[in-house]
Amino acid sequence: MPKQLEIKGVSVAYGNTTIVQGVDLHLEGGDIGCLLGPSGCGKTTLLRAVAGFEPVATGEIWLQGRLVARPGFGLPPEERRAGMVFQDFALFPHLSVARNIAFGLRRQGGRERQARVAELLDLIGLPGSGEKYPHQLSGGQQQRVALARAMAPRPDILLLDEPFSSMDVALREQLAREVRELLKRDGVTAILVTHDQFEAFAMADQIAVLFGGRLHQVATGFELYHEPANRFVANFIGQGVMLPGRVRDGRQVETELGLLAGGRPHGLAVGAEAEVLLRPDDILHDDDSPLRAEVVNRAFRGAEYLYTLRLASGQDLLCLVQSHHNHAIGEHIGIRVAVDHLVAFAKGRESARWIGAGV
Ligand code: ADP
Repeated sequence: MPKQLEIKGVSVAYGNTTIVQGVDLHLEGGDIGCLLGPSGCGKTTLLRAVAGFEPVATGEIWLQGRLVARPGFGLPPEERRAGMVFQDFALFPHLSVARNIAFGLRRQGGRERQARVAELLDLIGLPGSGEKYPHQLSGGQQQRVALARAMAPRPDILLLDEPFSSMDVALREQLAREVRELLKRDGVTAILVTHDQFEAFAMADQIAVLFGGRLHQVATGFELYHEPANRFVANFIGQGVMLPGRVRDGRQVETELGLLAGGRPHGLAVGAEAEVLLRPDDILHDDDSPLRAEVVNRAFRGAEYLYTLRLASGQDLLCLVQSHHNHAIGEHIGIRVAVDHLVAFAKGRESARWIGAGV
């Protein structure tokens, strides 16, 4: 079986400026992938190349076993069987919801078209709303109609470019989860472009982190958080601090918080200076612990406080504490390290060496 999407060594340039550089990525049928990265890193450019709106400067793009792009050749967008949903998903305001959804089905017979529209209205949870007009729906409902419109002709792949960015922040994650459910129920293969990691976590099976036009890591959200491949991914995903240390042996790093070790050999040279990534959930508040740190800042997060704690050396740590433990700034509290996935970087080096699971 050919892969649904294969991007092989693709670069995309505007004039003399290369925006996307040598990207390799593939998606299996029914997978939801995500291009995640800061604004301007080339996500939309890569998506436009898949859709057929930008030529590739190097490499190849294959959709369901068909070569659709290589230097000097590009299948036109309308022949790629890709559906698109953009940030400004603009429904046709003068057409009913049903007619909006049927828009891409003009070649099908009336009965077939009606059946597909009814099926999609059900799928998006608006079974009785076919005769309504877009302005009678909420933003989230309109977004689902836009999705149904793109899904209607059963494209081989759905390309979603920041589809939730005009939504309320509080709604985005929920919508992303709902859309994931919809796509999974219909077995749709999709790529989401977003700069919002929580949206990516809520929606994607695989997340490709793009920065400066290059792919830095392709993994699940869990892996990106707990096993970032380099410092960029470590900084961009979640929060954390780098704790300096010295490599004791093949598995252990000596730090101000004691000897930290993991299950897998880390591959760093014995005696080398290292930095260990510590996430806020790696540091536990424990009144009985002899290890103390001063509260220097705190941010209320509802169920939790995110404390910034300072060690005697001046090193700062982040620590998530249930918010009923309400400590004042300046107080010294007991802490304990509980690292499941220890990530160590050689000082001055970009990529991580895993120390693996376990302490
Ligand atoms: P993202 O989607 O990650 O925010 P884009 O792919 O939109 O990033 O843009 C990547 C870079 O390409 C940016 O520096 C942007 O200014 C540049 N760019 C985007 N479109 C064009 C264009 N049509 N011509 C020239 N440069 C462009």
